[in-house]
Amino acid sequence: MQAFTYESRPGRVVFGEGSLKGVAEEVRRLGLERVVVVSGAELRPLADEVAGLIGQTCAGVIAEAVMHTPVAVTEAVLMQVQRLEADGLVAIGGGSSIGLAKAVALRTDLPQIAIPTTYAGSEMTPVIGETKDGAKVTQTTPKVLPEVVIYDANLTLGLAVGISVTSGINAIAHAVEALYARDRNPIIDLMAREGIRALFEALPTIAGNPADRAARAKAQYGAWMCGMCLAGAGMALHHKLCHTLGGSYGLPHAETHTVILPHALAYNAPAVPEAMAALRLATGSDDPALALQELSRKAGGPVRLSDLGLAEADIDGAVERALANPYWNPRPLEAGPLRETLRRAFAGEAPVSP
Ligand code: NAD
Repeated sequence: MQAFTYESRPGRVVFGEGSLKGVAEEVRRLGLERVVVVSGAELRPLADEVAGLIGQTCAGVIAEAVMHTPVAVTEAVLMQVQRLEADGLVAIGGGSSIGLAKAVALRTDLPQIAIPTTYAGSEMTPVIGETKDGAKVTQTTPKVLPEVVIYDANLTLGLAVGISVTSGINAIAHAVEALYARDRNPIIDLMAREGIRALFEALPTIAGNPADRAARAKAQYGAWMCGMCLAGAGMALHHKLCHTLGGSYGLPHAETHTVILPHALAYNAPAVPEAMAALRLATGSDDPALALQELSRKAGGPVRLSDLGLAEADIDGAVERALANPYWNPRPLEAGPLRETLRRAFAGEAPVSP
């Protein structure tokens, strides 16, 4: 076995249907007396419910999270958090709500309780991506890692099939890239394979019956495992492309991950035979890239960048941006093959190694 470094992250995970009811106890365990609940506008009713469960130690609710964590939103929310004299944050929602709490924690060091309601996986990571001046900049710092995560599958029963599938594939993307990361290790490999397997089982069931509680819990478990992969290994071409398309062209996060992942994997496939072997087992398919595209297609999810708002004329610019400040990647990044990868993703063609 090759030498490796594995770093475990601190953090308490409370998993199970109905576990939201324990949120006040988690606030108490952290010794907090004035927590602010953070969410997006659509989830305000849920945020108010959480505030009610927390009771007197809740100092307020701020429902202003939006996608891609714009710095201007964070700075406005930060002022409210300071005015409320908060000593902790409770984020409820998808990656956007959790991202906002992380962005505030980055500037204040406030402890966080994260209650995810999608499968994006951000709650498990010390990673924060922020958007400013048309670019998304990502950094890794323990300051943003939530102290407590509550996974309650009941909160996901109302999550539409579309975002269920796309945020689930967003989670799978963390695990896929962890399998061929430069700093991969056997522990993260285990979580990656387990997370992908769980989500491959759960997502088609959820697409057929969004109220299937067992599938919802399995998807949350898979998202947890996949989030650990993002926390524990460096990401490569796939994440770089998605950050470029989201940060510079305003494409929606989870949908972009869903469309790009099969193509980014196909690009890297010739360079990562061990990861491909693991993926064949985890997905139960001889062609994991195609299986990923089919997972989305069969659930009615997106398979074309052209449907997500990218213009064909933007492809060259996106390639240039992705090459300008690239992440490490197992296969060297070359403009021609990369352009062909994005062209295929744009047109919704089958993923093939260019
Ligand atoms: P999101 O948080 O923007 O949520 C998508 C939509 O689903 C929103 O309209 C939201 O209101 C709705 N929604 C969420 N939960 C719901 C529920 N249970 N019922 C009904 N509606 C619900 O999307 P996302 O895909 O979860 O997160 C994307 C964001 O997360 C991006 O900004 C991305 O950069 C970030 N992210 C960060 C990391 C990290 O480690 N830093 C990892 C993954 C994603």
